[in-house]
Amino acid sequence: MYADIIVDISHEKVDRPFQYRVPPKLQDKLEEGMCVLIPFGRGNKLVKGYVIELTEECKFDPLKIKEIHSMAQDHMGVENRMIRLAAWIRKNYGSTMIQALKTVLPARKTVGQIKSRTIERITSKEVIIAALGDAKRKKQAARERLLLQLLDNERISYEWVTGKLGVSGASINGLVQSGLIRVVTDSSYRNPVKIKAQQGMSMVLSDSQLRIVKEVLSDHDSGHPGTYLIHGITGSGKTEVYMELVEQMVLRGRQAIVLIPEIALTYQTLLRFYRRFGDRVSVMNSTLSPGEKYDQCERAKNGEIDVIIGPRSALFTPFPNIGIIIIDEEHEASYKSESTPKYHARETALEIAHMHGASLVLGSATPSLEAYYRAAEEEYKLFSLKERLTGGQLAKVHTVDLREELKEGNRSIFSVKLQELLADRLMRGEQSMLFLNRRGYAGFISCRSCGHVMKCPHCDVSLSEHRDGRLVCHYCGYAQPKVSLCPKCGSKYILGFRAGTQQIEDKLKEMFPGARILRMDADTTKTKDSYEKILSSFANGEADILIGTQMIVKGHDFPNVTLVGILAADLSLGVNDYRAGERTFQLLTQAAGRAGRGERTGEVVIQTYQPEHYAIVHAANQDYEGFYQEEILYREMLGYPPVSHMLAVQVYGPVEEKCKELAQKLAFLAGIFVDETEKKDKRMMVLGPAPASIGRINDIFRFIIYIKYEKYGKLIEVKDALEEALKEYQGKESVQFDFDPMNTL
Ligand code: ADP
Ligand code: ZN
Ligand code: ZN
Repeated sequence: MYADIIVDISHEKVDRPFQYRVPPKLQDKLEEGMCVLIPFGRGNKLVKGYVIELTEECKFDPLKIKEIHSMAQDHMGVENRMIRLAAWIRKNYGSTMIQALKTVLPARKTVGQIKSRTIERITSKEVIIAALGDAKRKKQAARERLLLQLLDNERISYEWVTGKLGVSGASINGLVQSGLIRVVTDSSYRNPVKIKAQQGMSMVLSDSQLRIVKEVLSDHDSGHPGTYLIHGITGSGKTEVYMELVEQMVLRGRQAIVLIPEIALTYQTLLRFYRRFGDRVSVMNSTLSPGEKYDQCERAKNGEIDVIIGPRSALFTPFPNIGIIIIDEEHEASYKSESTPKYHARETALEIAHMHGASLVLGSATPSLEAYYRAAEEEYKLFSLKERLTGGQLAKVHTVDLREELKEGNRSIFSVKLQELLADRLMRGEQSMLFLNRRGYAGFISCRSCGHVMKCPHCDVSLSEHRDGRLVCHYCGYAQPKVSLCPKCGSKYILGFRAGTQQIEDKLKEMFPGARILRMDADTTKTKDSYEKILSSFANGEADILIGTQMIVKGHDFPNVTLVGILAADLSLGVNDYRAGERTFQLLTQAAGRAGRGERTGEVVIQTYQPEHYAIVHAANQDYEGFYQEEILYREMLGYPPVSHMLAVQVYGPVEEKCKELAQKLAFLAGIFVDETEKKDKRMMVLGPAPASIGRINDIFRFIIYIKYEKYGKLIEVKDALEEALKEYQGKESVQFDFDPMNTL
């Protein structure tokens, strides 16, 4: 037996492991992640190394290979855990050990880099605007130039400011003195936070909040940390519960990881954590440079911070003794990695929690089916927070049947009800948001007259229209010729939905010539910051109507919005994806939640061709439980996650035929595997290969195989068997694995 060993734990070194022979006395003891002593270099000095892989195959001359000396003493160090975690990720999601290690280890900053200085804004835009007014009055032109830059940029190069912008060091210092900015040098630890913890920031918790805190802590203190799901609408006090739990863990000498989707990492949220934990909390987000991320990891390892807040990757902060991991908005798709290894933060967090003996707390207004199912199975404890503490009532929802509108002769994108309410809001000077659900644009076909959607007879997902007009299933490969009449009602209005945000804006302008309209979609948000700019200009009341795609339903709070229109609610239902119902329900619930955050009650108009669809009915009633019950039945019947599990095997390559051939071989192999191991159990299924929903990107073809089975462990075995077979494969094609995929590929 041989072991691949890395001597230095860093992102860069994992590419070049050294191979050693495993002596007989260690054969049964050695595991991936363990720390060993090895003779290293010319002098055979004994150094510490970490086992990243065990193998039977010797890559060097067996006569020259050195032998591992012994096991090292410190088994449970931080490094050690990171490698075990990487090994777990590799096993559960499919990747090489090197890819897995690169995922969990921070990139080391390059040594000897030139020290550069950066100016950072450490206050809100409002404060900067006030200072700007001040500088104008006092005719401090240099200061004004710098402040103007700071409005749009949180970080600016010091050298650029003193050079191009012509601002003197003294002017910069002036702003540092008044606490608006700070100057950071690359060599110092970069701490993005400079706010002192304030006394008395904790609130008196409500009874239902207190109950959660008490239960989580008492489980923890009695040595049985668990996993918890808090189901509570926005504003129901979840964040306050998180902060209390974090504080209690810190008092117990443990550290905390708080995951928040990148898009919700707003200044307001962060400020609440800063005020409570001061410089013991740090933020990890995508705007940090690799060097800064590395610094955060160092500070975590050295015990200089107790709390880290960030998106998915913050999970890999190398804390020595984690007490709690919190995942807010746990249903967000961004918690699943889109590149190999395609790990899910929720499951990975659970593994980390096990390693540390930590608690895991998940929170959401619309929990993922996965989390709610686990709670129903009593793997997680479920809590619910029902009241909105910020005031404001649930909006009044109108569901409009677009088939009826068509019958009445209204062919426009706006129902009569929506037109009326829009006119009313314009008159009253209140704001409206129009949401176009565009996920379904992948070309599904539905009937405008009866709402019928063309579906695959084998998979119960919708068929997609190909450019040649055929209708194709991307799960199993089924295809049929195009239809010109609806098979259900015979109407000729059976076609794909083609309205875009641009058309909607044009129509609106025709209808309401005086209205001030903002549009947010992929076209208007191409440049950096344009997203923030549109939202803040809407928040400042510079427009009456905001039109947008999924982007507008998240994060920001607009108290003056009293009308939300959802233009084609069922578009995302038509998507050829088993999660379509769940996603539609979440989007509609979130969109509806945008109306009436302030003092006035809001109204929501849901326009749909399928008003009877359960995802729409339950979203209109804001009834999560009802939705869950129907959705889980569907998943159970068809063997979809979370009731069953699904492994997607994706084959890529430049030559279509070769790709298809390999995919067929793999499907065949997986099929044999099923027969051999699960002869009696017919519940394991191999579907495909089928061309992926975007069958070709940049001339790379993609084919896909789905393997469904109840037991995750068995799917890992199938993956291992396919990986083994692929070792022999010589062609240019490559293969990726995706367990319980978030969408059809
Ligand atoms: P969520 O995270 O569920 O959106 P928050 O924790 O942000 O909810 O709470 C919503 C609002 O209610 C915040 O302004 C918060 O300060 C306030 N709040 C939360 N808990 C309490 C409490 N126990 N007493 C008074 N106000 C509270
Ligand atoms: Zn029809
Ligand atoms: Zn099918």
